[in-house]
Amino acid sequence: MRLSRYFLPILKEDPKEAEIVSHRLMLRAGMIRQEASGIYAWLPLGLRVLGKVERIVREEQDRTGAMELLMPTIQPADLWIESGRYNDYGQEMLRIRDRHDRAMLYGPTNEEMVTEMFRASVRSYRDLPLNLYHIQWKFRDEVRPRFGVMRSREFLMKDAYSFDVDKEGARRSYNKMFVAYLRTFARMGLTAIPMQADSGPIGGDMSHEFIILATTGESEVFCDRAVLDMPVPGEDVDYEGDLQPLVDKFTSRYASTDEKHDPEEFAREVSEDRRVSARGIEVGHIFYFGTKYSEPMKAVVAGPDGMEKPVHMGSYGIGPTRLVAAIIEASHDDAGIVWPGSVTPFDVGLINLKAGDETTDEACDDIYGKLGNAGVDTLYDDTGDRAGAKFATMDLIGLPFQIVVGPRGLAGGTAEIKVRATGERETVSLESALARAIEVAKGATF
Ligand code: ATP
Ligand code: MG
Repeated sequence: MRLSRYFLPILKEDPKEAEIVSHRLMLRAGMIRQEASGIYAWLPLGLRVLGKVERIVREEQDRTGAMELLMPTIQPADLWIESGRYNDYGQEMLRIRDRHDRAMLYGPTNEEMVTEMFRASVRSYRDLPLNLYHIQWKFRDEVRPRFGVMRSREFLMKDAYSFDVDKEGARRSYNKMFVAYLRTFARMGLTAIPMQADSGPIGGDMSHEFIILATTGESEVFCDRAVLDMPVPGEDVDYEGDLQPLVDKFTSRYASTDEKHDPEEFAREVSEDRRVSARGIEVGHIFYFGTKYSEPMKAVVAGPDGMEKPVHMGSYGIGPTRLVAAIIEASHDDAGIVWPGSVTPFDVGLINLKAGDETTDEACDDIYGKLGNAGVDTLYDDTGDRAGAKFATMDLIGLPFQIVVGPRGLAGGTAEIKVRATGERETVSLESALARAIEVAKGATF
């Protein structure tokens, strides 16, 4: 992509409304634009990152055997009246009337709708286990939308729903999602801590929030450093095997949020050198809720004995839009964003220091073409801006690898390369600049 043709509305000044670094950098880097309180447009650069986050989420869901579908954003109120949540949900729900005066709503979540789909077509335990998910926009009229896309009113959610014949089956489904979540966040360069969360009406141990550490997080977290250092399972993980020991390993160590934190227990169970107390951001939540919806909504399956019973369900959420902000909170410096390779909007930034100069243009066009042929996503700054402004833009938008081409270097057949994360610069031949760029782009996947 040529920067001269790209829609990248960079802000020179820090926007006043931004209280946290990710919000400030997303606005400054031209990733998002606020259209109303808590409602954002995703601009081309931001959308590229969001797309990559979604892709990782999707790949890891698919790996478990979950199946993607797409439910609508607008739902009939009837389903929610049936489940009993229409009134309970309160002011966070955006209620709509259509032209026939029918009560509709913009979905804040999809338990009811997916339960309705299930009961319409599944009858037997033989069709289970089943896990259906979608990645769809949600609306919650949050009391205090803030921090940009971190807590917005309209946001993207991956929500998966598992169906099992009994609690033991549900536990297997739950464990798959638990492991998939560990992998999902790790692939984005994040260390996520699974924290036992309030499990609502069911009780038990099958509810976890996944929290990443960031100074601007909304919740306080306390955990054993061992949880942060635990290796995340590789892509060869066997989702059909017994995942319980793996889940136990992650959940056996002390990890708690503010409300549940017991200082004495923390001190007793975790040696001082391993105690972490920090702030965190919730990026995912997995949750077993048994027959909470299947019972009132009569979603039943016949077991091996022919008896019909309400199906056991769980739901599993991840917020891709919040994640984009969370990744920035975890990875930035004074100059701007530092994208992990797996979610970067472009792999490489190519800077032409003297656009309009025939030799420099030719050399840049050549590199740009070769990177394209090698499948490397490149943002080519071919504008007539000052060098300083070009460097600042590249650093701000955080591309992992930069190639800087100017007439002086070209005279000796060289270019400068820069690794964004370390700031390390090196003057190398044009060929090795190209080779390094291709290598970095290829190595970006986990
Ligand atoms: P929170 O406690 O932050 O309000 P929640 O418990 O309401 O979250 P869930 O209903 O479990 O969240 O939603 C699943 C995921 O959706 C969350 O883990 C988060 O990543 C994302 N999410 C929820 N609310 C928002 C929001 N207002 N803006 C952006 N993302 C959100
Ligand atoms: Mg909420």
